[in-house]
Amino acid sequence: GLPAAAAVDMGLDRAHGARIYDYILGGKDNYDLDRAAGEATLQVWPSLRIHMQANRSFMHRVARYLAEEKGIRQFLDIGTGIPTSPNFHEVVQAVAPESRVVYVDNDPIVLAHARALLKGTSEGRTAYLEADMRAPEKIISAPELIDTLDLGKPLGLTLIAMVHFIEDDDEAYRVVKRMVDMLPSGSYFAAAVATDDFDPVVLARVQEVYHSHGESLRWRTLAQAEKFFEGLELEEPGVVQIHKWHPDPVAVGRINDKDIAMYGGIARKP
Ligand code: SAH
Repeated sequence: GLPAAAAVDMGLDRAHGARIYDYILGGKDNYDLDRAAGEATLQVWPSLRIHMQANRSFMHRVARYLAEEKGIRQFLDIGTGIPTSPNFHEVVQAVAPESRVVYVDNDPIVLAHARALLKGTSEGRTAYLEADMRAPEKIISAPELIDTLDLGKPLGLTLIAMVHFIEDDDEAYRVVKRMVDMLPSGSYFAAAVATDDFDPVVLARVQEVYHSHGESLRWRTLAQAEKFFEGLELEEPGVVQIHKWHPDPVAVGRINDKDIAMYGGIARKP
């Protein structure tokens, strides 16, 4: 079972990714240091909120695409964030109620809210695992995962707005490759990779703010983003800015490239 929220060490001595993200998206699960980090970032980068909303929208389109177009029924979503409806499982279970989702995050506050992630359809299943993405073997062999997903069948692996937390390139590529290597053939890998290609001066300052709050952030170029998909078969249109990936018809023409610091794509494992 899950520990009671009060028993969880929230790590309140520093700002943390999930809570900053929650603050920017208008949530209530954040503390002084997280709000300070969020506000400091908004000061230098007023587009942060647009960027994060576009990221959330990309996650929804990725989930729907894999469920609807590819018939995927089991998912591993690493770097879940604080539950904000609709969450990943709500999107895929709306397409196919029998869908199964394992959520992974390393922020204790996400664990404290995990009950909201576990309320799925009766036909499907969801599970939550507190783990670090830098330990793929631990994730793939965790009892919560083994009990929920069938590793003999293709699954969808999503790392949305995650790899920028691993600043060392060798480590970032190695972690993703190890994770993808462990998936059955026919699985799909989706990622959103942070980039400063469209507003380098402002985003260099954003990186400084993150660093000054003890949070890591590594921007990557298009070529560096594409490298995460090496050895896989990219789906159309390849790796593009997230608002241009199978765009939401309502949003077309309404988002400036400059405001979006994220590349995204989906690839199939042969
Ligand atoms: N994927 C979600 C949330 C992105 S925010 C979305 O796109 O909406 C990034 C999340 O990654 C946060 O919840 C943060 O706690 C988590 N995270 C950061 N570093 C991590 C790590 N090393 N291992 C697991 N989770 C991590």
